[in-house]
Amino acid sequence: MKRMPRRQFVKGLAGSALAGASALATRSGIADPPVSVASIGRRTLGRVVVIGGGFAGATAARYLRWLEPRIEVTLVTPEAEYFTCPFSNLVQADLVSLADLRRDYRALTDDAGVELVVDHARAIDPVAHRVETATGRTLGYDRLLLAPGVAFIWGSPNGYDRAASERMPHAWSAGRQTLLLKARLDALEDGATALISVPRAPFRCPPGPYERASLMAFALAERCPRSKVLILDANEHFSKQALFEQAWAEVYPGRIERIPASADGAVQRVDAATGQVFTDFEVFRPGLANIIPAQRAAGIAVDAGLTDDSGWCPVDPQDFASIKASDVHVLGDAAQAMPMPKSASAANSQAKQCAVAVVAALRGETSPEPLYHSTCYSLVGPEYGVSVSGLYRSVAGQLAAIEGAGGTSAIRAEQLVRREEAEQDSAWYQSICRDAFG
Ligand code: FAD
Repeated sequence: MKRMPRRQFVKGLAGSALAGASALATRSGIADPPVSVASIGRRTLGRVVVIGGGFAGATAARYLRWLEPRIEVTLVTPEAEYFTCPFSNLVQADLVSLADLRRDYRALTDDAGVELVVDHARAIDPVAHRVETATGRTLGYDRLLLAPGVAFIWGSPNGYDRAASERMPHAWSAGRQTLLLKARLDALEDGATALISVPRAPFRCPPGPYERASLMAFALAERCPRSKVLILDANEHFSKQALFEQAWAEVYPGRIERIPASADGAVQRVDAATGQVFTDFEVFRPGLANIIPAQRAAGIAVDAGLTDDSGWCPVDPQDFASIKASDVHVLGDAAQAMPMPKSASAANSQAKQCAVAVVAALRGETSPEPLYHSTCYSLVGPEYGVSVSGLYRSVAGQLAAIEGAGGTSAIRAEQLVRREEAEQDSAWYQSICRDAFG
């Protein structure tokens, strides 16, 4: 495949971003293996430390090296492998296995020349430009890219702590929790209720709880025909609501019930010992309680003083630079990037635009105007997909959705269209994993 010269590519990436950074990545060959370590330039242009090897961090590390091999990139992340949350709801319905969600960083280290430090970043000193790790390493940086994702707010709802999550799994991180929830679902008795508690927004993956409800209903359809999925929701409205509600009526009539906040849907307290779930006026005794706790930016961002009262990290939408510290960028779920959703798709797009901006800054060039993109597919069933997408830009220091550039799946569509969207979901998943992890 023909490659653009690097400099031209940096410009081209931003210039054609209207087509969507992810789409661009696959169509223009950006997702080809990056430069080999042997071609790394002789003179170092700068040192970038990336904290967090999820969709945002892995994408940023890989693209930085690809765009400018003279930049030294170190990725600090706690595990040598990563399980993707996207597609983890499909594990509940036996459509994929947990092993299918596993990724590692071999392409980043071996092909892109990223230095991998499997460790926990313990502290950031933004004045001295240093990161300390849990094992006592000190890493200096010219730029720090912080992409640590979310933390769960234990005690929200009351009584929901780490120990309670063993009995009432959240499965809002992929891995062991995914399997705990699946075991509970597999053990559900016919006629018992599977309850999902949704926290107040913002949280990671706005349509995720509703996709999960759908796939649980699918999983229960034959084995537990008398069981129901009950969503207790601390919100009034939700992502792709009209599409989900129409699909539930069509595909799972009477099997999924949702109680919004205004009808006493917000869960206030749980008792993991008895399995009870309390709203203001009701007590529920479900066969399975899937409690998704409230969320904020991960601990390292809070400890470094990069969050505000919202619990998330305010950033400049031009390049996701922190408002609170210079030479630090915050990407992905940890950033306060409304109206962009907290999605892998958004994290991937932010990471690419930030990489372009950091390369430009370290070269002493002006960064091109950014455009961000997000597409979130959800599965209602194995052959029923729906999606929402948006394009975003910086307007007067705020992120703003570009009117008319995004939207949701059509409310009226034939089954063939839903099936095609389900297929596109699989293609999207493969392509974003390849783009981020190689
Ligand atoms: P993460 O992916 O959470 O990665 C953060 C990384 O940082 C982790 O590896 C973490 O261990 C590491 N880290 C944290 N603290 C430190 C530290 N101190 N030092 C070093 N490393 C640290 N999005 C979509 O676009 N499409 C979907 O279909 C979709 N489905 C989803 C389904 C579910 C059930 C869930 C829960 C989420 C889903 N998402 C989906 C959302 C998506 O998973 C997140 O938005 C995405 O993972 C955000 O990427 P990130 O890199 O910001 O954070």
